[in-house]
Formats: sequence, structure tokens, C-alpha cells
Amino acid sequence: PQLANQIAAGEVVERPASVVKELLENSLDAGANRIEVEIEKGGHKRILIRDNGKGIAKDELQLALSRHATSKIVTLDDLEHIMSLGFRGEALASISSVSRLTLTSRPESQSEAWQAYCEGREMAVTIQPAAHPKGTTIDVADLFYNTPARRKFLRTEKTEFQHIEEVIKRIALSNPQASFLLKHNGKMVKRYVADKQGSLASRIAAVLGQKFIENAVQVKVDYQGISLTAWLGNEVMLRSSNDLQFSFVNGRSMRDKLIMHAIRQAYESVWGIVEQPAFVVYMTIDPKDVDVNVHPAKHEVRFQQGRLVHDFICKSVCDALQEISE
Ligand code: ADP
Ligand code: MG
Repeated sequence: PQLANQIAAGEVVERPASVVKELLENSLDAGANRIEVEIEKGGHKRILIRDNGKGIAKDELQLALSRHATSKIVTLDDLEHIMSLGFRGEALASISSVSRLTLTSRPESQSEAWQAYCEGREMAVTIQPAAHPKGTTIDVADLFYNTPARRKFLRTEKTEFQHIEEVIKRIALSNPQASFLLKHNGKMVKRYVADKQGSLASRIAAVLGQKFIENAVQVKVDYQGISLTAWLGNEVMLRSSNDLQFSFVNGRSMRDKLIMHAIRQAYESVWGIVEQPAFVVYMTIDPKDVDVNVHPAKHEVRFQQGRLVHDFICKSVCDALQEISE
């Protein structure tokens, strides 16, 4: 089973940032609204995520670490209505197959916490009592220690940490209800505090800066079950790189070609620009009209009615830009 896990890990766990993404998604799926991320040496040495979510019961710890054990899909029908972020039940198994993983958790209903440690080819899991408040901590040490070929592909500490920061940005942008804290080598690097309303605008300001919000027009359009909420940077926000382009579908960060194309086309048709616009776009669509199961790392989606979605986005963005350029 370990070999299968390591092969799957190749798809899910590309680098430290992908571990952070999977673990943060699990924390959010568990209802956490306070999440701490501690990184050592760009994640080469350690990735630790602590949350205040619903926790994992003692007798489910071992199961959580095994492949295709997901508590999130109960029937085949669920697959068509995926709203939770994780659903494949392979992240923890994959990560633990290429690292030294310790899982410590306490659900509210349990008076004491338990810790599972998992190492080696046989996936032997040992379980022992531990101290932990309500919630879960996952400690991933020595990523790729047993897959030297993969380890070789890790970039510098600095580069890997930048990828981690990028992941946290995206997740923070789509989860304004949660607070995030990021430490690197013991130093606090980022802190996004959830405001009482969990408002998107204040989270966007915290992540992308006040200047972005000041130079953005807000759009909210609903059409045939699709809803679009966006902040579109004006001409002042045009830039040479695409580093200020964020899009989310049903709460997931996406770098979907169709969405990107629709937005670019709108900017081009209004301003005839070749530079990169800045935007944050949130779309919600009935989960049955979109397939998020296209790629294990889940950056792409497949819309049932791609054309319709494309044209809806393009037109909505176009209308908004036209308004501010008049
Ligand atoms: P998936 O998220 O696709 O279900 P994972 O391998 O990521 O698969 O996680 C396996 C299971 O472990 C989850 O279904 C969930 O029940 C449990 N789990 C993982 N992380 C957490 C967490 N932070 N809090 C509570 N439960 C968790
Ligand atoms: Mg998961």
C-alpha cells in the first residue's frame, strides 16, 4: 500500500506548498476558524498546521491516514454535490508516505487528546495519549526524506516559502471567516485576522493591500444559478505580471483557463490593453454543473456549459469596466 501512496503522492504532493494547501483545506473542512501555520526552512524541515476544528476521534486516527478513507463522501451521489474542499481521501495517506507525520487531535466530545505517528514502508501507525486543545495539529517533518529523487527537485528555502505564502493568500482570500497566522523559522510573517462580519472586502484589503480595494470596482451579478462577486482593478492597477489575479469557484482557488480568458477578453475589449489586470473573482455555481475532479491538485474545473459561463463572466466584467471608464 505504501508504494501506491507514494505514487499518489507524486500527484498530490509536488512541494511543501501543496502539503500546506491540502492541510489547510482539511482544517477548513473541519470547520476551523483559527489556523496557525508554522514552517521551518521553507517547509523542507517542517510544516505544522494547528486548527480549532472539530477534531478526529481516537478510533478514527488510523483511518484518517489510510488511502481512500474520506469522511466526506458517503454515497456516489455525494460525488455530484461536492462542496467540501477535500474529497479524495488521499492527501494524508500520500503526505505521510513521503514524510514523518504526526497527527494530534481532540474532538470536543473527548476529554483527552491522542496522537498518531506514522512512518516507514508498512505505514505502521502508533497511537499514544497527548495534550491538545479541541482541534487538530498535523506535523509534517522531513518531507521527501525517503524519496531522494523528489527531494532533489525542491528549490531553495526562499522559493518554497514564497509558494507557501501564495497558497495561504489564496486560501485566506476565500475564507474571510477564518483567522490565519503564518510563522517561518520561529518568526511571525503574516497575520490575517477575521473581522466580525467575515467580510470579503476587509480580507482582500488585508491580503492585497488597501490600494487594491481603493482602485477596484465591485461587481455582483446573478444569472441562471451562477453568482459572480468580483473586485476588478482599474487602469491604475494594471501591471506587468499576473500576480494579482485570483479566481475562486465554490470557494476553491482556481487558475482556470476559461475564467482567465473571459476576464482578459473583457479587459481587452474595454481598454484594449495588453498588460495584466488585477482582479479577485468569486463564482458560485451549482456543484452539479461543474466538475472539480479533473486534476488531483484541483486547479482546473470543467463547466458543464463552458460557453455560457465564459460569456456570462465576460459580459459582467465588461459592463462593470465600461461603467468606470466612462
Ligand atoms: P479528504 O480530505 O479527501 O477526506 P484527507 O486525506 O485529506 O482526505 O483526510 C482524511 C480524513 O481525515 C478526512 O476525511 C477527515 O475526516 C480527517 N481529517 C483530516 N484533517 C483533519 C482536520 N484538520 N480536522 C478534522 N479532521 C481531519
Ligand atoms: Mg483533504
